[in-house]
Amino acid sequence: MTTNASTEPTVITTRVCIAGGGPAGVMLGLLLARAGIDVVVLEKHTDFFRDFRGDTVHPSTLNVIDQLGLREAFDQVAHTPLPRLDVVLNEVRLHAIDFKTLPEPNQAITLMPQWDLLNLLAAEGARSPHFDLRMRADVTDVVRRNGRVVGVTARTESGLLQVDAELTVAADGRDSTVRKALGLPERTFGVPVDVTWFRLDKPENLPDTLGYISDTSFLVTIPRPDYLQCALLIPKGSFESLRESGLDTFRERVLRASPRLKSVINGLDDWQQIKLLTVQINRLKTWAVPGALCIGDAAHAMSPIFGVGINYAVQDAVPPPICSFPFCGVRLRPRLSTPRQGRCSGGANARRRRCSSSSAQCTA
Ligand SMILES: Cc1cc2nc3c(=O)[nH]c(=O)nc-3n(C[C@H](O)[C@H](O)[C@H](O)COP(=O)(O)OP(=O)(O)OC[C@H]3O[C@@H](n4cnc5c(N)ncnc54)[C@H](O)[C@@H]3O)c2cc1C
Repeated sequence: MTTNASTEPTVITTRVCIAGGGPAGVMLGLLLARAGIDVVVLEKHTDFFRDFRGDTVHPSTLNVIDQLGLREAFDQVAHTPLPRLDVVLNEVRLHAIDFKTLPEPNQAITLMPQWDLLNLLAAEGARSPHFDLRMRADVTDVVRRNGRVVGVTARTESGLLQVDAELTVAADGRDSTVRKALGLPERTFGVPVDVTWFRLDKPENLPDTLGYISDTSFLVTIPRPDYLQCALLIPKGSFESLRESGLDTFRERVLRASPRLKSVINGLDDWQQIKLLTVQINRLKTWAVPGALCIGDAAHAMSPIFGVGINYAVQDAVPPPICSFPFCGVRLRPRLSTPRQGRCSGGANARRRRCSSSSAQCTA
């Protein structure tokens, strides 16, 4: 990213500044904008298209999509609903999880590429005059005044930017710059695995299956419309030695989990096709300081098992007090002077918490 030679930042003022346009940041931005609260979301990438991110949209997130009135738009995007998650253990198929046991209406997990979900949420946000998503804006630090966080600085294509805000939200993922700048201590949990991600063609007549497990191999196979998004678990820190042992060894390890992939395994013919995810599991001891709050992976990097990360990130964005953040010393009341006034779209907990649209005020 290039910046102007000038070191003087352009300063803009908003009510909430969110660092990071992932599921947590975009969902929070959308909800705040709908509640009439001006929000700036800063995302360092040009677009949302990054392959090796999760696909699993759980029923809890589908409930939020419904409550936002976005189900029709969601259903127009290609996705794969799975009412049941099968796991094949030593070649025996188990119906490990049955979402039909959940309350209606959402009784299936759905696989939708994360970039499609984010594009959908961002497009909905863009319908609000309160929503300002800025791509290619790389947050570099927080701004403090009188012991309080009052915004962030960012590098953008047109130079340095400073966003002054009543509330700053770190939603910039597991390597969060804002969290580091806040100096919040985290608790790290040991994790014995890393994950390698790659694609394989879909063999004919392969039933949708979440994973194949053998005594010595664990393979996740996310069915996308045209291919399988696969993840092979490997012992932590072993990727380099695996590479040294060669692609044949890698392919053989995949087949040990699922011999049914034999017809497609040779599509894997270059290490460039295989990406390493170094698994982290951690969470902050304190998520908030005066003027700032961490959510999503920035607050708690999740285990990849069962693909819950996106869904926890989304739930972080829709806590009961969506319109107030007293825990970080901020109380946000919408300024209801626009045509969208009073729209306090509650999300997952909306039924429990009714943000009053008629009282011209949003209360927790
Ligand atoms: C390989 C892989 C596979 C996964 N599979 C699944 C799965 O199947 N299901 C599932 O639920 N979860 C999965 N996860 C986890 C899931 O992707 C995360 O838990 C979830 O995306 C967290 O959302 P978030 O919004 O908190 O953070 P992120 O999705 O990480 O989003 C953070 C955003 O902040 C941006 N950003 C970072 N730094 C800055 C900065 N300085 N300035 C501006 N922007 C910045 C990033 O570009 C990114 O867009 C997977 C993760 C990985 C890495």
